[in-house]
Amino acid sequence: MDSNNRVAIELEVNNEAMQSLQDSFCKANNLYLMCVGKSQGQLTTFSGTKPEENFVDYNFTAELRREIIDSFVDGNVENVIERYGTEEYLLYRGVAIRGGAGECIGVWLCFGVDKEKLPIGIQLPEEIRLTTADSFDKSISLIENLTKHYFAEKIKAQALKLKLSDEKQAEIEIESRLKKNEIMTEILRDMESEDSFADIANNILGAAGRYLECTNTALLQINPDGVDADMICEWVVKGREALSPKFKQVPVISLPFMNGKPYTISSDAVLPELFEVFFIKHEIKAGIFLPINVNDSAAMYLCFISRGQERKWSVEDLRFANDIKRILHSVLLKKITANSLASSYSALEAILQNAGYGVVVADLDTKDLLYKNETFSRMFDNEIDRLAIEEIIFDKRYTLSEINGYSANGSGKWFDISIAAIEWVDGREVRLLTFYDTTELRLYQKKVEKQAQEDVLTGLYNRQACEKDISLEFHVAKKLNKEFAVLMLDLDDFASVNEGLGYQIGDDLLEYIAHSINDISYINGKCYRVGGDEFAVIVDHANFKNLDMIIKRIMTLFDNPWTLNGQEYYCTVSMGCVKGPGDLEDSSAILTRLNIALHGAKNRGKNRFEFYDANSDAIVAEKVKLEQALRRAVEDGCKEFEVYYQPIMEFVNSIPTCCGAEALIRWNSLEYGLVLPDQFIPQAEKLKLINTIGQHVLEEATRSCKHWNDFGHPEYKVNVNLSVVQLTQVDFIDKLDEVLKETGINPNNLTLEVTESLAINDMDRMVAILEGIRSRGCRVALDDFGTGYSSLNYIRTMPLDTIKIDRAFVSDMNSDHFSELFVKTISELADSLDVDVCVEGVEFDKQIDMIGKFSVNLAQGFFFDKPLSKDDFESKYL
Ligand code: C2E
Ligand code: CA
Ligand code: CA
Repeated sequence: MDSNNRVAIELEVNNEAMQSLQDSFCKANNLYLMCVGKSQGQLTTFSGTKPEENFVDYNFTAELRREIIDSFVDGNVENVIERYGTEEYLLYRGVAIRGGAGECIGVWLCFGVDKEKLPIGIQLPEEIRLTTADSFDKSISLIENLTKHYFAEKIKAQALKLKLSDEKQAEIEIESRLKKNEIMTEILRDMESEDSFADIANNILGAAGRYLECTNTALLQINPDGVDADMICEWVVKGREALSPKFKQVPVISLPFMNGKPYTISSDAVLPELFEVFFIKHEIKAGIFLPINVNDSAAMYLCFISRGQERKWSVEDLRFANDIKRILHSVLLKKITANSLASSYSALEAILQNAGYGVVVADLDTKDLLYKNETFSRMFDNEIDRLAIEEIIFDKRYTLSEINGYSANGSGKWFDISIAAIEWVDGREVRLLTFYDTTELRLYQKKVEKQAQEDVLTGLYNRQACEKDISLEFHVAKKLNKEFAVLMLDLDDFASVNEGLGYQIGDDLLEYIAHSINDISYINGKCYRVGGDEFAVIVDHANFKNLDMIIKRIMTLFDNPWTLNGQEYYCTVSMGCVKGPGDLEDSSAILTRLNIALHGAKNRGKNRFEFYDANSDAIVAEKVKLEQALRRAVEDGCKEFEVYYQPIMEFVNSIPTCCGAEALIRWNSLEYGLVLPDQFIPQAEKLKLINTIGQHVLEEATRSCKHWNDFGHPEYKVNVNLSVVQLTQVDFIDKLDEVLKETGINPNNLTLEVTESLAINDMDRMVAILEGIRSRGCRVALDDFGTGYSSLNYIRTMPLDTIKIDRAFVSDMNSDHFSELFVKTISELADSLDVDVCVEGVEFDKQIDMIGKFSVNLAQGFFFDKPLSKDDFESKYL
């Protein structure tokens, strides 16, 4: 290269035109440019204000500028270089300004601020130009083109000078031109060929590869998913290894040149890391990678590759490569348009082939199957089915347009078939049949039908199925003159399991219980879930002799706690039993009788079973009436409910002295007169009325106590009974706070009585609730201790102030040694835990003597007083 030429061009760069190009370009494109000569340093002055210049100088450091300038190497035709700074929102590029032989004579340093990536709260000089990554890229391509255009004339002139000045160079040039012409003629011939695109491309790649003296030339295509690419054509110079086996389904991200831009990379180029990795991996020394666009996006990449041998691409090489790219592009376009018509029929066929339904075209006269798709063949791959369906296909009697529910015997599949007459391509009348496989739909319908008879939670049959089966058994037994029985089970206090432990545990427990019952011998399959916590069992005539055993087995199931996930849950059952057919005319009365028997069992104390008794009919009717009245009483503002007070005595120097009272509710019903709590509290819990009733008692009792405290008895306390349903309300503590605030009672004078029912199943929850109560300063008493599942552990774990020993122990104390021992043990334990003990149901003085021996400090019972109305209590104890 003649150094004079270079100098000439270098000097010409530094002119006003460059400055004005820079000024207007920066303004129009919202970025910053600086023109730097490769050896002369800065050639233009900054376009912009002083604050902008300071900002750019500060962020576009001298090192970064140097790095960009240095990465442009003579002969490397790569024109744009991207660099990254420390901030994502700052964009850096270098665009080469090249001389005629591809030598770099200067660089545009480009800087942009991406407004979409600006961190929140960042302060920028007011005048700073903001762009986006996308428009920045577009501006860079523009400056690249402008620069090329600007120098094109100069480069041409220079090239000519070079050629003229160097005879040898000119000779080579002519030789290569001739060679190029030859190759081009060959390529153009290929272009016109009717061969497939792949064949044509292969020929062209070969010719171009030979001309450029590459080792490999290839076309890579991005797959429709946009994720992978395949090498679809490749030419390899003799004796070299093909790359295509390695380029199958390669992720696009591992191919750094696949970003829509052209790359020309000579062996001496300083490469970005991604390219470096890619080149080393495939032993590529140099390459030209050119995108071929279809519909504005790169569909293919044309690659000229030099493997294993160094290569510097010349401008001439690049021009040739670009020509090849243009040729391939036009071949591709031509094939695409030609194909779109020619392939429309095959596309249609492809669609039909893969359609979800079977399609057949039949000529009824010739009995020819003119067309059938894949799906049809798969549907009728069974020999029996195929023969049968062919009968239908060609049967002229089928004039209906649809056959719904055709059943193929061979495969057991079901089909809906639609039939239409159409005109075939050659004009003859043919029949088009479409087959829809409806097997799954039918199975689904069957499942839905079954589900209507099935309980989703337990998988048992439901009430509907139960009624059907009872009716069936009734008729069979009657005809055979045999007996059968139906059992109805209702879990005791299941509402409190659901309320207390949550519906998930409730459901799990139900499922567990359901399966345990169903697994009992002779029951299998005849167990039904007929209500929330109600089950029925049919003991049919064949098993009737086992009735007693079945009943016994069910009851013993409930003797022990249920273990779920390692936790023990307590739940008992009440059961009613009806035998049939007996005097019954039809089966419809069986369920009613079962309900009556069941209620009988519940009324007589739960956890038991009872046969239907005609006399109990009336009881049930009565119960329904009572429930209605109860609902009315609550809706009526609880006016019918009255709180009675039974004094609680404290032994002061062995002398029983009143220290307060337990609030006990009474219902003065218009219809029933005085109703005691045992007769309506369970129903109130079941009907969810207990929360309102309980709140009413709590308010009343607290108000009364506050009155006693204010009128001479500041030490009097009041005890209020709480149902577990009440206790587990989410807003219970809020309600308590409200009452405390409204009445102004000293919280220490309010004792809440709870039973251990919640603690049995969820001690943690119980403890949390009780601690909430005590954190308000109120006291907690454990009621009815000794009944149910009492365990000494509860006393230790529950935060308690008082233990109330159930009256059963007190009444038995004289006759039963165990009762005496029980009271003694509890009182001693309570003493050590610093908890008060109250004995309930003290009726005789003898009992007081017994209690006197133990450390019991509180007592309650008819011996001292019955529950009294508020007035009576106050006139006696105030
Ligand atoms: P409880 O909490 O064990 O109340 C003591 C029961 O024993 C009261 O029956 C009381 O009248 C009775 N009693 C007291 N001393 C004696 C005696 O010496 N001998 C005999 N045989 N009985 C005695 P009552 O008032 O019929 O209440 C029954 C149950 O109803 C209560 O048992 C309590 O569990 C519940 N209850 C009462 N009021 C309420 C209330 O406001 N809310 C809730 N959730 N339950 C209540
Ligand atoms: Ca009580
Ligand atoms: Ca009690």
